[in-house]
Amino acid sequence: MIPNSFDYVAAKSLDEALSLLGKHKEDARLLAGGHSLIPAMKLRLAQPQILIDISRIKDLSYIRQEGNGIRIGAMTTHYQIESSDLLRRVCPLLTETATHLGDVQVRNKGTIGGSLAHADPAADWPAAVIALDAEIVAAGPKGDRTIKADKFFTALFTTALEAGEILREVRFNAPTGRVGQCYKKFRHPASGFAVVGVAVSLSLDGSGKCQSAGVGITGASPKAYRAGAVENALKGATLEDKTLSAAAAHATDGVDANSDLFASGEYRRHLAEVYTRRALEMAVSRAK
Ligand SMILES: Cc1cc2nc3c(=O)[nH]c(=O)nc-3n(C[C@H](O)[C@H](O)[C@H](O)COP(=O)(O)OP(=O)(O)OC[C@H]3O[C@@H](n4cnc5c(N)ncnc54)[C@H](O)[C@@H]3O)c2cc1C
Repeated sequence: MIPNSFDYVAAKSLDEALSLLGKHKEDARLLAGGHSLIPAMKLRLAQPQILIDISRIKDLSYIRQEGNGIRIGAMTTHYQIESSDLLRRVCPLLTETATHLGDVQVRNKGTIGGSLAHADPAADWPAAVIALDAEIVAAGPKGDRTIKADKFFTALFTTALEAGEILREVRFNAPTGRVGQCYKKFRHPASGFAVVGVAVSLSLDGSGKCQSAGVGITGASPKAYRAGAVENALKGATLEDKTLSAAAAHATDGVDANSDLFASGEYRRHLAEVYTRRALEMAVSRAK
């Protein structure tokens, strides 16, 4: 439980952090809230030579609305999201998801950028950002680029971020119209992480038909994913119970389900279907 020795430097700006990353390359790791990296270092699963602390870069911590766009800085903590009045009003999916993450200490220190960059297959944020069709902004030596959330998680603990890049912001359009959102999670009884977590964001038109649907699922497979077949079964439909059940049956279409000592692949598939149906039912009831 004691990490290898390492150097430490606190970056004062994003530019300084990018330049330090460029200098130290694979010897370096960014330190945000430290709630995934430090445990990994103590177990010697990660052994960086140098930590570049980005937690003091104030410019990376914000929640802003610009027109219809919502922007969340990478260093925004889980608690800042949980307690944001703006998000509770325009995108309650995020405030609800935040309440499911770890405990008070974890939420006070851990950041949305750190969680997304870490890409734990059982983390909660990936499902929510996929359901919102968010974009991840990566800052690199050549400037910024954006990556769609459903293309960001590429494999177990792996993202589309390239060497030398820093996740700088999450952005999405605030959903409009008769919006219903929900995050449902089956918690692992020991770790609290998602055995399966399902995020839903949908909107209804004036006649009650589904205008748009976003469904992100975490925990079920090595990487969080968009449940495209569920979304397709909802779009344009009147969202009665039997439609929701039929849509939820597609929750793991084309997915290689995770299997471990706690939950077999078959059990996870079952949970994904049940929790998708529950999240859809709740989202529809909130949209009315
Ligand atoms: C007891 C406990 C319970 C937890 N329960 C849950 C839970 O229920 N659900 C859940 O989703 N999570 C849970 N977590 C994880 C927690 O949410 C972490 O805060 C989060 O996964 C990582 O965020 P961090 O800011 O702490 O990142 P760090 O640990 O500092 O960094 C994680 C990784 O991301 C990299 N990184 C960090 N920021 C950036 C960036 N801006 N750009 C590029 N790379 C970056 C780091 O180099 C490192 O490799 C739990 C953690 C603990 C300790």
